[in-house]
Parts: sequence; structure tokens; C-alpha cells
Amino acid sequence: MPVSSEPRVDDRAPANEVDGPALPINELFESLQGEGVLAGVPSVFIRTSGCNLRCWFCDSYHTSWEPTHAWMGLDEIIAAVDEFDADHVVLTGGEPLIHDASMSLINRLVDRGYHITVETNGTIAPPPETRIDLASISPKLASSTPTPERPPAGSDTAETDDVAVDDWQQRHEANRIDYDALTALVERFGFQLKFVLTGRDDLPEIEELIADLRAEAEPKIADTDVLLMPEGQTREQLAETRREVAEVAVESGYRYTPRLHVDLWNDAPET
Ligand code: SF4
Repeated sequence: MPVSSEPRVDDRAPANEVDGPALPINELFESLQGEGVLAGVPSVFIRTSGCNLRCWFCDSYHTSWEPTHAWMGLDEIIAAVDEFDADHVVLTGGEPLIHDASMSLINRLVDRGYHITVETNGTIAPPPETRIDLASISPKLASSTPTPERPPAGSDTAETDDVAVDDWQQRHEANRIDYDALTALVERFGFQLKFVLTGRDDLPEIEELIADLRAEAEPKIADTDVLLMPEGQTREQLAETRREVAEVAVESGYRYTPRLHVDLWNDAPET
């Protein structure tokens, strides 16, 4: 099957001196998985920098287009993961699959017995030999697209003036859904399809996407493989959206997922 993918960024030279394969790491910490079918499971989170999209509500914008990171070699990352007790690892971002070194890291961690979840926007299909246990796929809906009226988080920087937002609006719209990549992810790995909802109006687009994906992909996609998650980066914001999203879940048969880390720790970093 032809699978399109964004160019990966393995050609960037590490900013600091690292021998061998390396990744730009924004955070590496242990917490509870906050979302999805593994919510509540103690996990080590590896957050890479860099993303090929630019959602206006991105809660990781500091990793996506304002990278504040150091490069870490894969040996160093694995040693840091081994320091914790959790046997679940979540590779997240940004979009971790833009980095070729992510594939090596995933397979090396699987060899050490870790369960690997990859949080991805679903626009990049990793090679079939990548051994992901759970592809947590979060396709980005039209409501994610930044506009001059709805500029992305972090828009107080000079980079995100109207011209830049217009440019990102077009790039984001062109790239946010890739059915070949979505199909490959669903066919190759255990998966969940996780959608951030800003409200009831997002449901028709989700239903259309799921119908199209069911027509393309081999494995059965059950309604309970489709997770609805309220938009909100703070308890206050979640309080405004979660009731409506829960009602949409009941009506649609899709599954509601909480954001435990926001409930427990609000918007604190490393949670
Ligand atoms: S795809 Fe994810 S990391 Fe990338 S901009 Fe959107 S929310 Fe942020």
C-alpha cells in the first residue's frame, strides 16, 4: 500500500554533542497515563520536540514550534527510562514519528520488555518493522486549524503574526488528515482513535472520518475504539467542555476518555 509521510527530521544535526542516533527531548518523566484505554497506568513519558502540524489549542506548543530542548542519545534516553519503575512507556510530542530515531528507540525499548504507546497525529506511518504496542492516533479535526481569529497558543511571539498564521493555516489544512497513514497505523498496530472535541459540532466530521477509515482499513474498528476527549488544558477549561462531550459519547456510542492529568495536576508541567 502506498503510504505518504511528512519528511522526517533525522537530518538535523544535534545542537549539543551527542554520538550516534539522538532525539530532541523536551521532557522525560514518570506519571500516570492520563488519557485513553490505559488511563491510570503508571508510565514513563518521553516527549520529543517538533511537529508537522500546528493546532491552535496545542497544549505542547513549546515542543511543537518553539523547541526548548536538548538532544539526547538513545542510550541516554533508555538509561533514563530504566531509572523509573514503570513498565509502560509513552512516546509523545510534538509528533514523535517525524524523527527516524524514534523507530530505533521504540524497538530497543520493546526488546527490554516495555509496553510502548506512541501518541501520534496519524499523519505519518512508521515502517512495518516498528513494534508499537498501542498506536494512540489523534486525527486533527477542522476545528484544530489555526486562523487569524483563532491564533495558536504561544501567539504572543513575533513568529505568529497574521502572515505566519495564514501560512500555518494552509499547511495544517493540507496535512492534518492522511488516510494512507491512518490505514497503515490501524492495520499494523494495536490502536485507539482519540479525538479532541471542542463541542457537539465536531461529531459529524468524526463520523465521516470513521466511516471512510472503516471502508479503507482491514481490521474492524469498533465504536469503543473511538475515544472522545474534551478540549481543555486546565480544570476550568475542561469543566466547560466535558459534560457536552460525555453526552455526545452516550449518543454516538463512542467512548469518553477523561484527562486525568488535568483533573489531578491541572496544567503543571511533567504530568
Ligand atoms: S498535532 Fe499534536 S503536537 Fe502537533 S500541533 Fe497538534 S496538538 Fe500539538
